[in-house]
Amino acid sequence: MLVAGVDVGSVATKVVIIKDDAFYYRTAPTGWSPREAGGQVFREALSALGCAAEQVEFVVGTGYGRVSLSFADKAVTEITCHARGAAHLVPGSSMVIDIGGQDSKVIKIDNQGQVLDFAMNDKCAAGTGRFLQVIAASLGNDVSELSDLAAGKSPLALNSMCAVFAESEVIGLLASGHDKGEIVSGLHQSIARRIASMVGRLGHSHQVTFTGGVARNESMRRSLENVLGMKVIVPEHCQMAGALGAALIARKHRPEK
Ligand code: ADP
Repeated sequence: MLVAGVDVGSVATKVVIIKDDAFYYRTAPTGWSPREAGGQVFREALSALGCAAEQVEFVVGTGYGRVSLSFADKAVTEITCHARGAAHLVPGSSMVIDIGGQDSKVIKIDNQGQVLDFAMNDKCAAGTGRFLQVIAASLGNDVSELSDLAAGKSPLALNSMCAVFAESEVIGLLASGHDKGEIVSGLHQSIARRIASMVGRLGHSHQVTFTGGVARNESMRRSLENVLGMKVIVPEHCQMAGALGAALIARKHRPEK
């Protein structure tokens, strides 16, 4: 049994291969061409396993670049794939918060990982992974360093959550001698508040799972816990949830032998 899920995201392309009962993960930056990134990461993942593309029984594509994947047998929306993947990573999840490169979503799911309801912010750059990358750059850091910077720092109140104004506000705060960690902690808190209002729209949930690349930021997870007042779980492979969900859907669709 060999199936694949390919999630071509705005920042990173993720591939999950299910070979018999084992799961293999691979990721690389999407770069300028979603089509090329999807094909390349897919081929690399297969060659690492010593398999050929012809052996793959079913491929599901997801993510913003899913329509550009000529080798995919089916395209499935990110909401459906993230829900399925998160339910597999953390059984019992009833709500999924996914923060990726260009959007954030909150998805209410049942215990099979089926979508019951969702809220999405894909209109505004603030609160997305790219926004955090831009802010990190203006602080002279990489996005992977934001968590350590903010750890144990009290959040500085920020006036602006518009991506454009927030960047200049951050530069101004730095110039006036404010602590970097407090600024980053303040940003995390503002993002957490935005997410909390989406969570509030969907109603109560007993188990919240946090996925997407931004879930790799431990301080962001803690800010979400503080604002939501409940435990937030980040699974291993949090960034792979969409590709994993796509691979699980591919496994259901593969032709009967
Ligand atoms: P997309 O599917 O849109 O490509 P991802 O879910 O892959 O988005 O998330 C990409 C985002 O994850 C980046 O914009 C960045 O903010 C964040 N990210 C990636 N790696 C890390 C890391 N090591 N630490 C913290 N954040 C990270």
